Amino acid sequence: MGIFGRTIVALLPFAPRFVVRWVAKRYMAGENLEQALELMTKLSSEEACFTVDVLGEEINSIEESSWFIDEYERVLDSIVGSGIDANISIKPTALGLLIDQKSAYKNIERIVRKASENGIFVRLDMEDSRATQATIDATLDMQARGLENIGLVLQGRMFRTPSDISQMCETLGPKADFRICKGIYLEPREIAHTSYQGIVEGTNKALDMMLESGAYTAIASHDLPVIDHALKSLESRGLGPGKDDPRHDNPVSRAKGKGPGYEFQFLLGVRGNVRRSLAEKGHRTRIYLPYGRKWYEYGMRRLRENPDVAVHVTKSLFFPWTNRR
Ligand code: FAD
Repeated sequence: MGIFGRTIVALLPFAPRFVVRWVAKRYMAGENLEQALELMTKLSSEEACFTVDVLGEEINSIEESSWFIDEYERVLDSIVGSGIDANISIKPTALGLLIDQKSAYKNIERIVRKASENGIFVRLDMEDSRATQATIDATLDMQARGLENIGLVLQGRMFRTPSDISQMCETLGPKADFRICKGIYLEPREIAHTSYQGIVEGTNKALDMMLESGAYTAIASHDLPVIDHALKSLESRGLGPGKDDPRHDNPVSRAKGKGPGYEFQFLLGVRGNVRRSLAEKGHRTRIYLPYGRKWYEYGMRRLRENPDVAVHVTKSLFFPWTNRR
């Protein structure tokens, strides 16, 4: 981390709450579901679809998970009721993954089952390395129960990712469904790439492996070298807008709302101009749309965990042309 990042992170605790709120507004849909629905309706005109995230993570007691289950059920009902083109993203630690794995799996199953009944896909977000194996196991467990509307996220920075891709594709075949991102959690150098170049190369290699193995691949990066690499990788495999996925003879049964074997994903409020340009060329683009009351705790923790985010946010405040909404 450079001196700029260190300075911003050191100043964070002194930032008044209203300032943080003002900054956070750009990256979050609001404090409640109604605001999230309103924003999705507005952004639908940009040819985007959505993945809805209820803000919050690592709970302290398993009882706290009930609130998240109820809220996600409300989200699912609203997606069905409104007809908005959306699926959901879940943080497994908010459902108790690090407290009681068995109960957490039951919680995940409850949400995934309800989503399945409504043809909606569920993505398990990937959190820090304490949760990696249990999140992979949860995905495999749900698939083994016949719930095919589930996929997970893998992080390009992690050394283990290529072997995770191979193992998951071996078990799930074309039902494997990944989001590939760099990974927001700063992990120790023993288990993860720590340089920019290493992380980009790890991410590009992972997305190539996913595409090569026939898995559905959601490319989640705002970084142009990753996006450019993905576009070339897609083209070399005959994947692209308006084309049938050439990797499968029979269409894989998937929840509705998927692209032709791949899609691009962006965080709300980040590099909208790049997203819109991909959408104009016909690529399926999805906005990750978080909402909830815990925006302050969530935002501050993210900024402290990965000061690069603080640098991006500050840069886009003072040099708005570097990040169009
Ligand atoms: P960077 O090099 O970080 O960013 C490239 C450029 O994008 C920057 O130079 C800047 O101009 C712009 N930019 C990036 N972030 C911001 C920002 N916050 N504000 C302003 N400008 C910005 N990580 C996980 O660990 N687990 C997950 O489950 C997960 N899910 C994700 C889902 C989606 C849809 C996306 C897009 C990211 C997700 N991430 C997740 C976060 C991801 O791992 C990265 O931390 C984040 O996307 C930044 O990496 P980047 O590839 O965009 O490259």
